Amino acid sequence: MKRVFSSENSIDVWQIRNLLEVAGIKAVVRNADMYSAYGEVPFLESWPEVWVERPVDYNRARGIVEEYLEGGEDHRPDWRCRRCREWNDANFAICWNCQKPAEDQGPGSRS
Ligand SMILES: [Zn+2]
Repeated sequence: MKRVFSSENSIDVWQIRNLLEVAGIKAVVRNADMYSAYGEVPFLESWPEVWVERPVDYNRARGIVEEYLEGGEDHRPDWRCRRCREWNDANFAICWNCQKPAEDQGPGSRS
């Protein structure tokens, strides 16, 4: 067993566990009962936690956790098409206007 995530927000904890399950990773939640039991803010040590059952899943699980924490936001800058000069959202693989692939754009396409 390896711990991959801990948060004071039990919703996050359950979300992560669900995402891991969907990805085929066996995971369990610990300490999730603390709130209802006492109705107090627990100490750091008793935050709900997500554990993966198999250590081999740990790295993959961490990747899923990090993706979740980023909230699906993409921090790459927008890119500008070299062919038609239109701006594209960073997560577009091809230009929305002329369908030129983003990887053909090369560095410095922003200027
Ligand atoms: Zn274009």
